[in-house]
Amino acid sequence: MVKITFKGASQEVGRSAFLVDDGDKILLDYGVKLTPHGLEYPLPVKTNLDASVVSHAHLDHTGNLPHLFQETNCLTYMTPPTLDIAKILWFDTLKIAGLEGMDANFSKDEIAKTEKFTFPIGYRKHMDITDHSSIVFHDAGHIVGSAITELRMRNSAVVYTGDFRYLETRLHAPAQFERIKECDVMITESTYGDRDHPDRKHTEKAFVESVQGTIDRGGHVLLPSFAVGRSQELIDVLHEYKVQAPVYFDGMGQSVARIYLANPSYLKDHKALRSALDKVNWVKNVKMRKQALKQPSVIVCTSGMMQGGSVYAYLPEVYNDKNSKIMLTGYQVAETPGKVLLETGRINLDGLNVAVKAGVERYDFSAHAGREELFRAMNVLNPQHVVCVHGDAEVTRKFAEGIRAEGFDAVVPELGRTVEL
Ligand SMILES: [Zn+2]
Ligand SMILES: [Zn+2]
Repeated sequence: MVKITFKGASQEVGRSAFLVDDGDKILLDYGVKLTPHGLEYPLPVKTNLDASVVSHAHLDHTGNLPHLFQETNCLTYMTPPTLDIAKILWFDTLKIAGLEGMDANFSKDEIAKTEKFTFPIGYRKHMDITDHSSIVFHDAGHIVGSAITELRMRNSAVVYTGDFRYLETRLHAPAQFERIKECDVMITESTYGDRDHPDRKHTEKAFVESVQGTIDRGGHVLLPSFAVGRSQELIDVLHEYKVQAPVYFDGMGQSVARIYLANPSYLKDHKALRSALDKVNWVKNVKMRKQALKQPSVIVCTSGMMQGGSVYAYLPEVYNDKNSKIMLTGYQVAETPGKVLLETGRINLDGLNVAVKAGVERYDFSAHAGREELFRAMNVLNPQHVVCVHGDAEVTRKFAEGIRAEGFDAVVPELGRTVEL
């Protein structure tokens, strides 16, 4: 028997936080939810923890971890690249909060304490985290250092998938579910539990054709993308398909790219990524931004849902040019500027709401498992119970119906509730 309390990511995407308790109390992830109206936090964890485990660096899994360390003194486990990237994101959170005069929910001291209490471990290394519990991380194929957690407790084997892709992508091998021998309870992401992604190779081809066509017409291609994972992948794709254009790389994706390069064993083909990153122009100052706009160019910038970031340094020159394009490649949360742009063709610039004459396109480069991959993972693990987290309410409900139709027990958690399995 194991008790799971849902502190977040229950019928929603964001603020992943799950407390697993069979006598030992272990917290899985402690993220935030990014909404158009600000950050939402997971429910507080009031109990004394024996350990915490972090699946990967994305803020919806790590964003509130330093806050936990205001009161906690437990060891936390994650892969080395997860810690390196999370630190960049935590300091960025402090910076943004400072600029906006907001409270970040933690300080530099708590970041330092989180780091001090973090024990980084690589994939496939067995680690006893209490007298009765152990973990092994396996590659989740989602971003650099992303992990599936195999958690063995007194009486139960719990597998927490984190976010995963069970399909080879440009930078990552598929998730390593085959290595897991035992699973009683599978806590799985459900982001795309109701649908499959389009074929990856077709998406890549359509994307590079549109990029090259825009360049050949004399336009600019703006690629506002997530700093962690997506911007590095797009640069790799542009290089692999030999797009003929100067590529500029601007924003926080640069520091994350350095961590990708420093962790070659966590990538499928680090040499390809290195040569792609060697060829792009790393934008260091305003002069380079101007230079990027002097000729047809591809600009990989932040942020993925256009809620700020370096894309706004280029938009004033690009939005009114019908030969240029803005291409979105990630999930767009409702009401974010990226989603609004896709739906209405309009954007806010310097306080003005303007119609965008440049082309606006979306490509599905998702780093999350589609429905078929989710079911394939489940059939490999063959658990007694499947707990569906990290999915919108309607998606999670449909996903759970499908799981039950395959003969598995499915749990759709409610925020704040505890289930015993
Ligand atoms: Zn993620
Ligand atoms: Zn996530």
